[in-house]
Amino acid sequence: MNIDDEIEASPESNVAGPRDLGLVAVHRGVDPSTGNQDVEEYHAIEDEEEQNESQIDNDVNSNENIETSSAPDSPESSTIHEFDMTLPSSHSYLGSNLQELRGRTLLDEGIYMNLPLLIRESVVLFPGQILPLAKFGRSVVEMLLKCISDNRTFGVLCYRDDKLQTIGTTAEIYQYNEENSPEGFCIKAIGRQKFEVLRIIHGFQKVSANVKILPEIVLPSPFADYRSFSLDFQRGQFDKINNHKKEKIEKVEALLTHWPSWVYKQFDPQSLASHIKHHLTHIETRGSHAPDDPIELSYWVAQNLPLTDDERVLLLKFDCAISRLQWELKYLTKDRYLACSNCGIQIGKQSDVFPMSKEGPQNTFCNSGGFVHDTITLYDVSNIILSGEQPSTEYSWFPGYAWTIAYCERCNDHKGWCFEAHNDKSLRPQSFWGLTRRGLKSIKGDLIEDLYELDPGLVVPSLLDTLLRH
Ligand SMILES: [Zn+2]
Repeated sequence: MNIDDEIEASPESNVAGPRDLGLVAVHRGVDPSTGNQDVEEYHAIEDEEEQNESQIDNDVNSNENIETSSAPDSPESSTIHEFDMTLPSSHSYLGSNLQELRGRTLLDEGIYMNLPLLIRESVVLFPGQILPLAKFGRSVVEMLLKCISDNRTFGVLCYRDDKLQTIGTTAEIYQYNEENSPEGFCIKAIGRQKFEVLRIIHGFQKVSANVKILPEIVLPSPFADYRSFSLDFQRGQFDKINNHKKEKIEKVEALLTHWPSWVYKQFDPQSLASHIKHHLTHIETRGSHAPDDPIELSYWVAQNLPLTDDERVLLLKFDCAISRLQWELKYLTKDRYLACSNCGIQIGKQSDVFPMSKEGPQNTFCNSGGFVHDTITLYDVSNIILSGEQPSTEYSWFPGYAWTIAYCERCNDHKGWCFEAHNDKSLRPQSFWGLTRRGLKSIKGDLIEDLYELDPGLVVPSLLDTLLRH
């Protein structure tokens, strides 16, 4: 049985999650002791939940809860309070006794180095993305402790369908708990810089790699060679220049070239970023804030869209924010709905996606079994059924809410969770859905076909070169 079979065959895999995937595991199958251990741990949690029935006695049947929660506000709820959207990014379910690590490690772009690796199924980390991790094997805990005493940095590499990606992102640990037992050890890390794997190095139960830290390419203005110095007095202070004046100047400068100004706008990071921000208005008005800087925005959008692993890796491969923003803008301008990744039935509408966190509508969480889920939040879904189990507050990613596992009605594949306010009728929203990215696919439009025609490394530079040569 290969590793995928092992993961898919386990009924708990979507709940308790698979284990750390060392290269040994990739080629020879999961270490049975590690795998069994996690499953046992999950059953232990289940048992504990059953014992805590007194705590959940007040909860009624989950389906009834949904109906209750979608009903109009009860007249008896005296004060209404909105959910604190700063809570999810604190990942308080990992405990409150975490140690802070200060400082920031910035690796020189283009350098070659040896990097310890953490290989996880379906985890594609972007720069700026928060990654909570728990439930490691002993060797991984040792690796992470060594990182903490060194430069706090390790590499995160995605493994999927028997394939190890060659592009990953460094993760810098900023919090950890001091208890260094494999069961209790957890960390919070943040994505920093992209790297390319040159050679995997197998060690005893450890994996590292020779990598190259990839640069983020920032292209000069296409008008750099055509700059009209006579217009300099119009520019004023460059950083205070307003868009209207900037556009007027660019139109004049474009007259000196063979191309109209609108062509150049398609390659202007600021212009692309403002177009994308326009499409994110409904997210921002609901309490999330997307970055203004084009590079940060390009990664923020990549992190928050319900993309497949392949699409996320493709965006990671783009070496320039312009390429990412162009791809994302094309994605955002198509009408889409979310469907079951397994059977294709419609699950949710793009208009039902909303943020429950300041970080955006899709956040990365770690469950009690150590499995990492990118979870997108929606007001409403269709063709979903709930497990018959009582809602649980154990390890809840949204403090104040109890979760119930949700499955696709047609194929019974795990899709995510329904979250309901726990014993608090004044909390808003009363309920919502958190769907796991890997259980979804975004349909439709011809984008998927288009994107594979693009060569991520070449498309923008070659087009820009063409423009600049004329
Ligand atoms: Zn399905």
